[in-house]
Amino acid sequence: MTTPAVRIGDVTNLGNGAYAFIGGDPANAGFVVGRDGVLVIDSQLTPAHGRAMVEQIAQHASVPMRVLFLTHYHGDHVYGSQAFSDRGAVVISHRGTRALLEERGPDMIERSAQQRPELAPLFAELRLVLPTVTFEDRITFHLGGVDVNAHFAGWGHTPYDCVAHVPSARVLYAGDLLFNKGIPVVRDANISQWINLVRYLETIDVDHVIGGHGPAGTRADLGELRVFLERLLERVQAEAARGRSLDEVKAAVPMEEYRRWGRYEALLPPAIEKVYQNLTGR
Ligand SMILES: [Zn+2]
Repeated sequence: MTTPAVRIGDVTNLGNGAYAFIGGDPANAGFVVGRDGVLVIDSQLTPAHGRAMVEQIAQHASVPMRVLFLTHYHGDHVYGSQAFSDRGAVVISHRGTRALLEERGPDMIERSAQQRPELAPLFAELRLVLPTVTFEDRITFHLGGVDVNAHFAGWGHTPYDCVAHVPSARVLYAGDLLFNKGIPVVRDANISQWINLVRYLETIDVDHVIGGHGPAGTRADLGELRVFLERLLERVQAEAARGRSLDEVKAAVPMEEYRRWGRYEALLPPAIEKVYQNLTGR
């Protein structure tokens, strides 16, 4: 059996030591290079993705890989972690992200492997890597001339969403709090909180915002996602207030202006359902 090809995305140089992998299958990632070391943000979908990232990073950095920082617990951001821990990088996440990985990781890996049968040989070598360092609120990494401030944002896309801010490069790595020009995945989401979190992220003074999915963005893109979530919430709320059932709400809520966004057909119905559940408890 031939080994399936992996797509980790193109390396985009954001300047001042900050880089992003944009267009990986299916997620983005990033890395920050200082005088003394490299910090990687998220590890993509499989160990092979992680190893391909390591190779690319070596083209841009000759200092050791010190840290892998995980923004949240979803597989497409963490399953590549062993490629980094095997090379001595310390894996760091929020305490709650580690707890969710420990609790849900084994089932999650099995499900992910079923969803992507063509990647079976890549999932076969996957081990669940739990972070060895956790934090609660914020943590700063000093890479030599470049500081990375990671902090807990709140429960938006998942219960423990974290972001990484690089002030000297004017870059914010927002994890899946930003789906850029795509309907967001909402399986674990708290939509009204997510809106508040994005509003807060929009106040961070940066030029580049790298989301977990979609092209490299700016603060304006955070605003666009927030408006999408606000409209979704407003429209579902209006229908639910009229006593409509979930199916009626799904049929009645128009979000036509977002049809041009990625995965509209597949992801809009579950997004409506999640908002309806958040609102009605049903
Ligand atoms: Zn996610």
